[in-house]
Amino acid sequence: MRGLLAFLFSLGYIHRVENITYGRQSIDQSDIDQVVEVLKSDWLTQGPMVSQFENALAEFVQAKHVFACSNGTAALHLTSLALGLKKGDNVLCTSMSFAATSNAILYSGADVEFVDIDPETFNIDLNLLEEKLASGNYKAVYATSFAGLPLDAEKISNLCRQHNAFFVEDCCHAIGGHFHNLNDEKIMAGSSHYSDMSIFSFHPVKHIACGEGGAVSTNNDELAEKVKLYRSHGITKENIEDLEDQPWLNEQQVLGYNYRMSDILAGLGYSQLKKIKSNLDRRQVVAKTYKENLKLGYQKFDQRFYNAYHLFVVLSEKRKELYHFLREHKIFTQVHYIPIYKHPYYQKRYGDISLPKVEKYYEQCLSLPMFHGMTDEQLGFVIDKVNEFNK
Ligand SMILES: *Cc1c(COP(=O)(O)O)cnc(C)c1O
Repeated sequence: MRGLLAFLFSLGYIHRVENITYGRQSIDQSDIDQVVEVLKSDWLTQGPMVSQFENALAEFVQAKHVFACSNGTAALHLTSLALGLKKGDNVLCTSMSFAATSNAILYSGADVEFVDIDPETFNIDLNLLEEKLASGNYKAVYATSFAGLPLDAEKISNLCRQHNAFFVEDCCHAIGGHFHNLNDEKIMAGSSHYSDMSIFSFHPVKHIACGEGGAVSTNNDELAEKVKLYRSHGITKENIEDLEDQPWLNEQQVLGYNYRMSDILAGLGYSQLKKIKSNLDRRQVVAKTYKENLKLGYQKFDQRFYNAYHLFVVLSEKRKELYHFLREHKIFTQVHYIPIYKHPYYQKRYGDISLPKVEKYYEQCLSLPMFHGMTDEQLGFVIDKVNEFNK
């Protein structure tokens, strides 16, 4: 009997301790009810739920326009289309993000140059960004509010304005994050108050789960029109003269895509968004408990910033050993991320690049479990195991 149990354990059919992953979604009955309601309605796509979700998002992140779309990568692509990035343009991008951030720049035909990170915040280094902007002609800056820590968007927008560059915030990690600007006003991450556009992802590991989903926010009416146009084939019914007489008319004005979100997923997103405050509160508690109980390095930031904690990254000189030790105890951590320029595609395209601060970060970083459904038992178990390893 024991042999059989051990065999089943080894196959993973029986779990001694449930797996604890670095992130996961929480779906409750209200989410299920909302999706079922959409399924029973007349619209599965291009119905009222998408705009209901967009309006609620716009109110939450405090942006004038929000456009939901099929995923965060599509949202990024829509920004490069709306800005009209093209071959011959150079764009600056943080070196520490998911590859999608810079892929979207390449989709447009433009080229990317990577900027090193600040070793305390893990966000793009503002001094290096300033030097870079002064040293060449750059069309735009793409930067990520990493792990949930909002960028100092006020400062970046000042730099971008001086050097005539657009500014796009990748806010996939930081919905609900905010900071106080120099006038002590509260600015929401992803509000596009300082940036030209911001983008979000609703992948299940992010704060709001749609399965797949994303959004673009902007306060600029012209960019908004372009995002909307490119999201749906470049086809519009606006400004067509004969529409009353020939209601079927529409016009394709640019080469767009189908990057729309379905009403089914918008329903899920809408329901998830209603619970974001308690989600963010729980993440604060998890982060505080980690900081108080672990003796490892972590992301440091000024009091002016409120971190939305998509990830909780610790720094360890024995990162690999810690990863494997935790895995043996069914704690599945992750490394966020491999610096984008180290991927073979980028190496082939741009040759060997080595940015010292992001390299050092990458050698040591490990994302511990961080999700709002994390129980006190799970949190205590992770802390015990990390401390057991570090003893
Ligand atoms: C998740 C993520 C993306 C891509 O979002 P998808 O919805 O998976 O396409 C882009 N940038 C960052 C920083 C992300 O975390």
